[in-house]
Amino acid sequence: MAVAALSAGVGIWATHFVAMLAYDGNLPLHFDVGPTILSALVAILFFWVALLLVGARPTVRSSILAGAIATGGIGAMHFIGMSAITAPQLIRYDWLPIAISFGIVWALFALAFVGFGALGRTSGIVVPAMLSVLGVIALHFTAMSATTLVLDPTLLPATARDPIWMVSAIMAATLGLILVVLAGAFLDRMLTDLKGLTEATLEGLAIVSDGGIVEVNRRLAAMLCVDGADVIGTTPSRWFVAADGLPIDDARDRPVEACVSVAMLEDQWFEVATHSIEYRGRSCQVLAVRDLTERKRFERRIQHLASHDALTQLPNRGHFTQALEARVGDLSQPFALIALDLDRFKAVNDIFGHAAGDEVLCRVTKLLRGAVRGEDLVARLGGDEFVILASNIDPTDGAQQLAQRILQSFASEMDVSRDPMAVGVSIGIAVFPRDGSDAATLRQNADIALYRAKESGRGQFRFFDTQMDMLVRERRELEHDLRQAIAGNEFHLVFQPLVSTARGAVMGYEALLRWHHPVRGEVPPDVFIPIAEDTGAIVPIGEWVLKQACRTAAGWPGGIGVAVNVSPVQFRIPNLPAVVAAALEESGLAPERLELEVTESAFLRSRDTTLATLHAIKAMGVRVAMDDFGTGYSSLSNLQAFPFDKIKIDRSFVSSVEDDDAARSIVRAIVGLGKSLNLPVVAEGVETEAQRLMVMEEGCPQAQGYLFGMPSTNPERKAATLRSVG
Ligand code: C2E
Ligand code: CA
Ligand code: CA
Repeated sequence: MAVAALSAGVGIWATHFVAMLAYDGNLPLHFDVGPTILSALVAILFFWVALLLVGARPTVRSSILAGAIATGGIGAMHFIGMSAITAPQLIRYDWLPIAISFGIVWALFALAFVGFGALGRTSGIVVPAMLSVLGVIALHFTAMSATTLVLDPTLLPATARDPIWMVSAIMAATLGLILVVLAGAFLDRMLTDLKGLTEATLEGLAIVSDGGIVEVNRRLAAMLCVDGADVIGTTPSRWFVAADGLPIDDARDRPVEACVSVAMLEDQWFEVATHSIEYRGRSCQVLAVRDLTERKRFERRIQHLASHDALTQLPNRGHFTQALEARVGDLSQPFALIALDLDRFKAVNDIFGHAAGDEVLCRVTKLLRGAVRGEDLVARLGGDEFVILASNIDPTDGAQQLAQRILQSFASEMDVSRDPMAVGVSIGIAVFPRDGSDAATLRQNADIALYRAKESGRGQFRFFDTQMDMLVRERRELEHDLRQAIAGNEFHLVFQPLVSTARGAVMGYEALLRWHHPVRGEVPPDVFIPIAEDTGAIVPIGEWVLKQACRTAAGWPGGIGVAVNVSPVQFRIPNLPAVVAAALEESGLAPERLELEVTESAFLRSRDTTLATLHAIKAMGVRVAMDDFGTGYSSLSNLQAFPFDKIKIDRSFVSSVEDDDAARSIVRAIVGLGKSLNLPVVAEGVETEAQRLMVMEEGCPQAQGYLFGMPSTNPERKAATLRSVG
């Protein structure tokens, strides 16, 4: 704009003075320097104002106004220029033509401005240029022709100046003007080109000189949600905070990540690369800014998905493992690792389906979140396994309180009596570094404590202690050894006689399993049978027992039967009748001589399949006894559900029958029940004569116990040899 104003002002001025010099009057004309220069400056100034007013996109209104200012400028220039004449003459003006020419010039300039905005590329320049030239010339010449110079001898001629000075000055000024305009146009083109380039990129660009932003592109302004003008003059750190903490415009060899320091634009991420460049003759920095926000969002989403459980949104195993690994690095910061396992969850899942199971897991998540404090990490490791990393608390007292809080919230929110989908929770706690200084040991020990909590009746919490560790280790070893016991020939059976209470005659034998461990020696069945049941090893072991018992009993004299204990776990395998049939066939034992002893717990799970299996077995002619009656549910419905051949009263009642009235009443009730159902009742564990008399009095026709015989290997064979010797 300034360059255009300069060129217009000087152009008008040059036109005026060259015309004046070409004036062929009767007197030589001389000009004062001051007003001459002033006249040029006035023209430049007026045109500058006019050009600023119309700008790049002239409207009719602004064009009319600017036209008036331009006309005023030319007029002012003309009359100031005239006043510079120093000759002994008076100047007279004829104002009417001058006023008319002013009006015409105004119209011409207004049209020129409008045309500049409205016409095409070339005509938009040519037409306004011609109109302007016309306007300038019209004003000069109308004004000149309306001017009369009258000789005034009272005015002394000033020191004459050579018009050559005037001509050279005008020539120089005009030449200079052309150069300036050319340079201006060139610069303008260059700058627009560069500007176009900076606008074409997707990156935000800012040029920083002496710590202040001197130039930005539109993209950067858009990224910051401000106007470009608001950014200019500010420092880069006003807008960006580098992730590495150093000033954002520090030179780095690679781009730095930055977030925005404008409060409104929280959670926006950028990558800023800083380069040093030469810009307008100065060494500056260019900040190239790339918007990373979207990418960061995806990255975070992926990270979240990879480290969280999709169902509960809790941190998952991977996340938890990382957190734990990080925590065990610092021995001075104790914390508690709390392992949780849901009780009855599998049942809920089986009965109500997976959708219900998912719902329960979400409910549990809510309970756990409610019980922990902000800094505790709750994670779901999978299935119904949860863990809590509780730091910044007293690892013993604090963890205990937390465990109690969790149990309480489960007790109040998960009421099994009202809500069939309610689950319970068992909790095991290991304390760092006391119970393990590395992640693996700590987790293992928390699991051991959890296992103990479950064993001691669910819905409880336990702290880990070293004794637990030993027990668990021993159990693991036994689990492992049990799998090899059949192949290693470590099992054998012993047989305990079953006698008639009245006469003491042997009616049959119960087969009892014995395990001779190669290192530990005899391991009692009360210890290894539950383990074999937990691991499922009882299935092949039970099969082995059946076959072995049948084979042994087949060698006994006719009429003597064998009773074999069958674990509830074996009923979960559908081929039990086939296994029994095979054992009978292989040994040639008559089915009537085999009796299976089952406990009530076999009816707990999948009652219908168990019943079907029992019926199939009974259909072969094998007899079935209800074992350990009185200890479990002692349910009449179980006794009625299946036509048992016998009820065995658990030995715990018999052993206390002498001095415990309650035990005696139970024995009496069971015998009564047996009678009403027409079932013989057997008393187990009879050790003394008094007990024998007592159970006989109560009405038990059969009995078993150390009084009649200890369990021994193949007693009938021995008896037979004795008989044959005798
Ligand atoms: P059970 O079926 O109730 O077996 C009777 C248990 O009472 C046997 O213990 C036997 O030795 C013991 N006993 C017999 N008379 C007396 C007595 O007068 N006084 C005392 N105090 N005890 C007496 P054992 O052999 O230690 O077996 C324990 C349990 O192990 C059995 O209880 C049974 O539930 C299980 N078991 C044993 N062998 C097998 C088997 O082959 N398969 C399965 N599934 N379980 C078995
Ligand atoms: Ca038994
Ligand atoms: Ca028993």
